[in-house]
Amino acid sequence: MLDGNRNGILWIISAPSGAGKTSLSRALIEHTPQLRHSVSYTTRPARPGETSGEHYHFIDIPTFEQMVDQGAFLEHARVFGNYYGTSEDWVKRQLLVGTDVLLEIDWQGARQVRERLPKHTVSIFILPPSTAALESRLRQRGQDDDKVIALRMQEAQREMVHYDEYDYVVINDSFELALEQLHSIVAAERLRLCRHTEEMRQRMHELLGL
Ligand code: 5GP
Repeated sequence: MLDGNRNGILWIISAPSGAGKTSLSRALIEHTPQLRHSVSYTTRPARPGETSGEHYHFIDIPTFEQMVDQGAFLEHARVFGNYYGTSEDWVKRQLLVGTDVLLEIDWQGARQVRERLPKHTVSIFILPPSTAALESRLRQRGQDDDKVIALRMQEAQREMVHYDEYDYVVINDSFELALEQLHSIVAAERLRLCRHTEEMRQRMHELLGL
């Protein structure tokens, strides 16, 4: 079982849609060794260009409910009318071999994971620099009319009110700066003494001639 030493870190990244969470997570993973993205299960239909097993595992509602009953999810939640969940088995297998896992999940899932694995979890909330910037990013996608944009802005506020439940907040004004800050957080958290107790015990043994 997870013992808090030499296990991977479970990273949670949450953000309102339009804050740049997916691009930042992708760039972070690309340049960070020993960090893998967890592919969530969802009941929402795949969007054009999305493939099952890569972006999500796309499943139907009965299958999702069956997985809930079997205790297959580390966390699960209903977000904007669809169900989403994280595979407990996959995540724990990564952590046990010392690989870090990145979950891109909403605040409800983040709460559940923090409660279940408090010692292994580090959570980061990504905020847009302003309301105007968020709205303009949502509009730039060019997919939605005014009514949908207004709805997305409301959804964004419902997510953002939970920012203070997280360990870190990163403001995505400049993408490069936000990415640098994420790398700093990862580097610092990986150096925490509590994550290396056995290795450090041996090193100090040698350094102090014990
Ligand atoms: P989308 O459907 O646009 O990819 O994601 C919608 C929302 O669902 C995002 O806020 C995303 O973080 C969240 N989400 C994606 N996967 C999971 C998951 O496994 N668990 C939870 N709780 N939320 C998720």
